[in-house]
Amino acid sequence: MTHTHHRLSHLNVLVSGASVAGPALALNLARYGARVTVVERAPALRGGGFAVDFRGHVHREVLTGMGIWDEIHARQTHMGAQSVVDADGTPRVALPAQMMSGDVEIFRGELAQIMYERTEDRVEYVFGDSITALTETPDGIEVTFERGAPRRFDLVVGADGLHSNTRRLVFGDESRYLRFFDHYVAGFPVPNHLGLDRGGLLYSEPGRCVVINNYDGDPDRAGALLVFRSERLTYDRRDTGAQKRILAERFADMGWQTPHVLKALDETDDLYFDAIAQIHVDRLAKGRVVLLGDAGYGATMGGMGTGVAVVGAYVLAGELALAGGDHRTAFTEYESRITGFAKGCQKISGNAGPFFAPPTERRIRSRDRMYRLLSSRLLAGFFKRLTEKAATDIELRDYPA
Ligand SMILES: Cc1cc2nc3c(=O)[nH]c(=O)nc-3n(C[C@H](O)[C@H](O)[C@H](O)COP(=O)(O)OP(=O)(O)OC[C@H]3O[C@@H](n4cnc5c(N)ncnc54)[C@H](O)[C@@H]3O)c2cc1C
Repeated sequence: MTHTHHRLSHLNVLVSGASVAGPALALNLARYGARVTVVERAPALRGGGFAVDFRGHVHREVLTGMGIWDEIHARQTHMGAQSVVDADGTPRVALPAQMMSGDVEIFRGELAQIMYERTEDRVEYVFGDSITALTETPDGIEVTFERGAPRRFDLVVGADGLHSNTRRLVFGDESRYLRFFDHYVAGFPVPNHLGLDRGGLLYSEPGRCVVINNYDGDPDRAGALLVFRSERLTYDRRDTGAQKRILAERFADMGWQTPHVLKALDETDDLYFDAIAQIHVDRLAKGRVVLLGDAGYGATMGGMGTGVAVVGAYVLAGELALAGGDHRTAFTEYESRITGFAKGCQKISGNAGPFFAPPTERRIRSRDRMYRLLSSRLLAGFFKRLTEKAATDIELRDYPA
């Protein structure tokens, strides 16, 4: 992006969260000359994470408009096919790369890094802090922080994920907005003891699944993804030990490579663990506060959440620019344009748990049969159109370039 407009230079915006949605909005707003501060609870930009993918012409148009399409390609994973295997490792079905990894796939942390690098000279990033209170006044919003001094902003954007702090402070407890989808997911690094090279293996038993992926050809390291069907569990989200115990118990007698994976689980200090869930709010904006990305319309996985967050950031910034910074007009337009699109993507994410961990042996077999069919060359185009349908179901307005 070479040009900077000054149509939003009077606007002082605070964004909570520096993962995908936050830096994407910062990048789009900085282009219009807004003054942007991003506050992130983590002590530094979080690297690594899962591989996330983009698919279809809308993602491409937005990322091109943001000036990062080429760099995403330069830093993509080049992930190959993944295979469903039997307990003895025999491949049953190959899931082609296009099916699992879209048009282009990149580590979430790499994507965040690209957007951070493009904005760090124009955007103020504050790490290791968090909003504690928001008080709206007629001409702004007073914000207090855990560590920093209180400050005043014109607008506050909650881009702080599925368990958004901003949403809790302004819209109320997350139990009102989070819908649980009967499964949990965990991710952590494992040694690449199978010698995978840009490929993955997926093994399911009724109600649970272990995946080992090697996205980047690293000969030593791979990533494990564990999915299991469950009633709602009560645990402390900050207590990694408790989460490890839950996983060890649920996967204790599972076959294939599971004992190796559980050993790595025991040793890791980099565990992701969460419910498979979606966020459904009645409205995305309240006064001068608006929700973006997973905070407003997230789905843990399988709902193209990264693409939705980036498109959301592009639309929100574009609407603010068109409205000359009038947040009432811009938030109303943003909400009406993004809600249907986000809901369409959430709809397909509801299948993520049962896809990985069908509840019975019979359902595992029928999943495999269906994917064998869909991955055949004859139906590959149909499958591509099917997955792209939700990702492209939005009419982008002509925002100032
Ligand atoms: C296993 C798995 C696989 C996935 N695969 C894909 C995929 O293939 N394709 C895809 O498109 N998407 C995928 N996703 C979803 C994708 O990761 C999210 O949709 C995307 O990261 C949403 O971005 P976000 O910025 O809205 O939220 P998040 O990425 O959750 O970021 C929220 C940020 O806010 C910060 N934060 C939290 N609390 C506070 C606070 N109090 N103050 C300040 N900051 C705070 C967090 O530290 C974090 O940096 C996957 C997710 C999972 C779990």
